[in-house]
Amino acid sequence: MTSDQMKSITEHESEVRSYVRNFPAVFEKARGSWLYDTDGNAYLDFFAGASVLNYGHNHPELKQLLLDYVAGDNITHSLDMATVARAEFLETFHRLILEPRNMDYKVQFPGPAGNNAVEAALKIARKVKEREKIMSFTNAFHGMTLGALSITGNSFKRQGAGLPLTHSDSMPYCDYFGPAHNTIEYIDRMLEDSGSGMDLPAAAVVETVQAEGGVKVATDDWLRGLEAVCRKYDIMLIVDDIQTGNGRCGRFFSFEEAGIKPDVVTVSKSVSGYGLPMALTLVKPEYDVWEPGEHNGTFRGNNMAFVTAKRTIELFWSDDSLERDIARRTRITEEALEEICRKYPEAEGTVRGRGLMQAIEFGNKDLAGKVSQIAFRNRLIIETAGPDDEVLKLLPPLTTSDDDLRKGLEIIDKSLASALQDLGITRKAASE
Ligand SMILES: *Cc1c(COP(=O)(O)O)cnc(C)c1O
Repeated sequence: MTSDQMKSITEHESEVRSYVRNFPAVFEKARGSWLYDTDGNAYLDFFAGASVLNYGHNHPELKQLLLDYVAGDNITHSLDMATVARAEFLETFHRLILEPRNMDYKVQFPGPAGNNAVEAALKIARKVKEREKIMSFTNAFHGMTLGALSITGNSFKRQGAGLPLTHSDSMPYCDYFGPAHNTIEYIDRMLEDSGSGMDLPAAAVVETVQAEGGVKVATDDWLRGLEAVCRKYDIMLIVDDIQTGNGRCGRFFSFEEAGIKPDVVTVSKSVSGYGLPMALTLVKPEYDVWEPGEHNGTFRGNNMAFVTAKRTIELFWSDDSLERDIARRTRITEEALEEICRKYPEAEGTVRGRGLMQAIEFGNKDLAGKVSQIAFRNRLIIETAGPDDEVLKLLPPLTTSDDDLRKGLEIIDKSLASALQDLGITRKAASE
């Protein structure tokens, strides 16, 4: 069933390509939570571009706005020169996102990708504190450029660097040794002890939920503990909210419930609302110590993304209706996943997540990949995560209708049944 289009890709594109291998269809159209391939098959999208499409594909109002913007000969590229679109985005982001949350940050446009936002965050921390080291965490993921890789846990990804990744220390994340051990105490002790062998870092970089790392959730207490340790030792706190932000975990920022106040926040993925490249590094004003042009980049301000990002904020974040929808859909999802785990005890599944980033980790490490593969045949796109791809990870668009959500959850149920059969995992007798 290999089409000419797929042949062009397999023959001409680098071996580095990845998602196309797991989801081998040629996609042509998309709308809302649905993707369509060239054979006219419809796929429910529980991947959403790794949370780039939190508001679904091709939102009609954003699309029309973009079409009008382009048709009107408005500015497409401008380096960081002033444009109407840039000014209006900044005003709206300030008024509807930062101000109501009592957050005072300068907005840096570091370049279009998430890793650009991370690199800028690391540079600013080192410049402010005049220290080399960065504290990162086990199973963290922050991107593929060298600075971001140096604070990423995954050994396969790290090896791709081809050189030593230094100037960082990886500390145990929340529950790394199980819930009985408070890793904040360990980190505190390492920093306190002048014999620990650990240099004082400029910053700690943390994800509130480690998305790529296997949907590992930090508790609010742990996050507050980390913030306290950072304050105690004069370490900057950077939250990488690239995947967890933009409503994915329930609120606009994933750390709102914990009530922590990071010094720097990285935002990207869904911030344009339309899948356009865009990234922000939010910096507390007192740390905005850049000289003009000291950190540069050709694509620091994608005007088309500014236009859709502004409208996305107005459409979805001027009241709490999306937040309430997310909370309801989170309950539906959690309950259905718990029910699936009860129905198939032989899968030894545990459910975890926050907001609409939910996951099941199975007893058998091959099971998540198998479920993803079978789900694709059942026309559901769903990814795996974790160091061994051992976790089935749900990232439906936040705007997925309750009906479509249930449809996808049913496909997961059905696909798990087939996967258990394929792998020969059977139910233990009730008497055992
Ligand atoms: C995706 C992601 C990045 C990197 O973003 P890119 O656009 O791929 O460079 C960084 N941090 C987190 C948490 C991410 O999910």
